[in-house]
Amino acid sequence: MNPTDITAPDYFHKVVDCQWACPAHTPVPHYIRLVAAGRYSEAYMINWRANVFPGILGRTCDRPCEPACRRGRVDDEPVAICRLKRVAADYKDDIRSLLPRPAAKKNGRRIALVGAGPASLAVARDLAPLGYHCVIFDQNAQAGGMMRTRIPKFRVPERVIDEEVNTILDLGIEFREAGAWTVSRGCSTKVGTRCSSVPAHHVGATSTFPAARTRRPTSRSAPSGSPIFGFATSIGLASV
Ligand code: SF4
Repeated sequence: MNPTDITAPDYFHKVVDCQWACPAHTPVPHYIRLVAAGRYSEAYMINWRANVFPGILGRTCDRPCEPACRRGRVDDEPVAICRLKRVAADYKDDIRSLLPRPAAKKNGRRIALVGAGPASLAVARDLAPLGYHCVIFDQNAQAGGMMRTRIPKFRVPERVIDEEVNTILDLGIEFREAGAWTVSRGCSTKVGTRCSSVPAHHVGATSTFPAARTRRPTSRSAPSGSPIFGFATSIGLASV
């Protein structure tokens, strides 16, 4: 048997079952301790860094963390991890001072993000404070993608979506409604339609993040000759 490699972060992640089960590897015990202490804003920020949309996820996540919760093996039920995320979101104070600031200086790189759903928003959230000029395109007039268009409002109120989406857009991210805009040369379809190419050239982008229609895990190769960051598959999992 090989010795345990404790230099690999996965070793420690796996010890915390709920955190390992969460697709975003949210530090669950950390934020639940903060919620228990009434430190809701800090608990929210732990979530915000890990899974980007705590208020929305606290109402909609499929919560794979909960079947993994050890309390389920001892008590009848696991800890209500997902609902505690909502508690942090609903009881937090003004968090503006805890958020990253828009970049004071751009780094000269422009990123075109196709589709204004959670994948693009997550990528833009991480890149904008680093100085990347992020332009998000969507066929709808408001950003949010499926979070806004496919989830019933009794489940996620509009104000929750507005708050979390605008928190990201306020980082200096440009949003453009694309309507009948064509997403590529030789492909006159709307954003959201399967396409073989991406619109870097439309905004002078140095890189493109084609996140439209990534509602299911997918892995596709980049169109030849197009600089590309990658595909995100779901909330909080965007990797660049
Ligand atoms: S509720 Fe969802 S996002 Fe939150 S810890 Fe569980 S799996 Fe992760």
